[in-house]
Amino acid sequence: MAKESKPGDLMEKLVGLCKRRGFIFQSSEIYGGINGFWDYGPLGVELKKNVKDEWWNTIVRQRDDVVGLDCSIIMNPKVWEASGHVVNFNDPLVDCKGCKARFRADKVYMVIAMAGEEVVHQAGVEADGDEQAKAEAIAKANSKTRRRLEEKADRLTWSVVRVDHAVEGGPAGICPMCGGHLTDARKFNMMFKTFVGAMEDSTSVAYLRPETAQGIFANYRNVLDTARIKPPFGIAQIGKSFRNEINPRNFTFRSREFEQMEIEFFCHPSEADKWYEYWRDTRYQWYINLGLKSSKLHLRSHEKEELAHYARACADVEYDFPFGTAELEGIANRTDFDLTQHQKFSGKDMAYFDDESKERYIPYVIEPSGGCDRATLAFLCEAYTEDEAPDENGAMQTRTVLRFHPRLAPIKVAIFPLVKKDGMPESADKVYRECKKAGLTAFYDEKGAVGRRYRRQDEAGTPYCVTIDGQTATDGSVTIRDRDSLKQERIAASSVVETVQRKLRE
Ligand code: ATP
Repeated sequence: MAKESKPGDLMEKLVGLCKRRGFIFQSSEIYGGINGFWDYGPLGVELKKNVKDEWWNTIVRQRDDVVGLDCSIIMNPKVWEASGHVVNFNDPLVDCKGCKARFRADKVYMVIAMAGEEVVHQAGVEADGDEQAKAEAIAKANSKTRRRLEEKADRLTWSVVRVDHAVEGGPAGICPMCGGHLTDARKFNMMFKTFVGAMEDSTSVAYLRPETAQGIFANYRNVLDTARIKPPFGIAQIGKSFRNEINPRNFTFRSREFEQMEIEFFCHPSEADKWYEYWRDTRYQWYINLGLKSSKLHLRSHEKEELAHYARACADVEYDFPFGTAELEGIANRTDFDLTQHQKFSGKDMAYFDDESKERYIPYVIEPSGGCDRATLAFLCEAYTEDEAPDENGAMQTRTVLRFHPRLAPIKVAIFPLVKKDGMPESADKVYRECKKAGLTAFYDEKGAVGRRYRRQDEAGTPYCVTIDGQTATDGSVTIRDRDSLKQERIAASSVVETVQRKLRE
């Protein structure tokens, strides 16, 4: 039976497990860390690589209408002028006049309680996610205050106002940290700046890319002219992006350096609505196929007012994280905006000439843009389970288990000799070598009681454990234990590789 943890506790336990088992460490931890940067340890790097491989395989390798690309992180700064990032890639920034903390104004909410005309309570709350979820979270977070106030006054009206939506001249925003007053919002450009070459002046300024998408647009002509492909087709890229986020938080969810998995899909304008729906639904399903529960995954279409001026439609794939419901990926119909901008700024022709219809047009673009670290975090949250399982003496004990989809699991198979004698370590080592040679991430462990070894693998999310025991020497069989069902079956030692590979394909 799975046991439920409170959301806050769950996040704390998960962060603890990630550090203890080598999934995710704070960057430069020995120097006190650096806010918004994270390192993936031996298990984390395998998990994240599996997420990227699943994406790359389903998007590029298994399709014939999408090709891959790997662009440089630093590009000619004109790219960012054309894309609008130099002028528009701003977040509204507010400072606390008291404790000097900084916040994104669109992530801070004022919770106000009025008794008639009188303001009896004001608090600032910081939250990611959509408005509805926030209002609910805030109401919950304030339930104690609410009870206390309601004992004093019987008619209270509560409202929630996003700080950057507060009317001018109205009450100042409240700092979520210290309760002090916030300044008015001002623009803050989130691109990291650097200098290229020896000169540090305005002519050598360059930016670390805040998204991978623009590298795709800048190469659209190159790919079209070399890859023997024509619309409808897509270009996919996985790579690092950098944003100087005002307030990185929620573990890796909002960091300053992160990886994106992006597709730009180019099609005829008349087919753009159809392709938008196709990609929206396909991308949503991808997360479900890899184990996110559909009850926790939402496809939220943006309202007209939420859309960027050039976008025709947009939807977010959102996940119920322990800290709230928040975006994993956005799918947008970006029209011909990006290619038209690059045509204007570069002077290069971005139109496609269709030989059959004799039509020239600038393709529309459907963009599914996901975050690799956010997806990895969602898979970690979903996998984290505490349940009861019998130990080697049959007594029930709480075990922590990461129930990853087997294809995402960092270690696919662990190999144990039951004891360190009677030729068992040698037989186990043989199976282990065969697994490694076949490209399966395998782990050899001969330390401690076998029950403890199982527990260690459960915590790492290893789906299969193989034990070499006394019977192996007589009939060549081993046991294979399933992480989730805890069932053990005997199979031939020589068929371990094939059995695990078959299970991974299921
Ligand atoms: P948010 O509103 O949460 O800041 P966004 O709408 O600005 O996100 P996009 O510009 O659409 O995000 O970026 C595409 C994807 O890149 C996001 O869905 C997310 O998965 C990922 N991403 C964006 N910013 C970050 C970040 N700071 N840390 C980790 N992943 C990010």
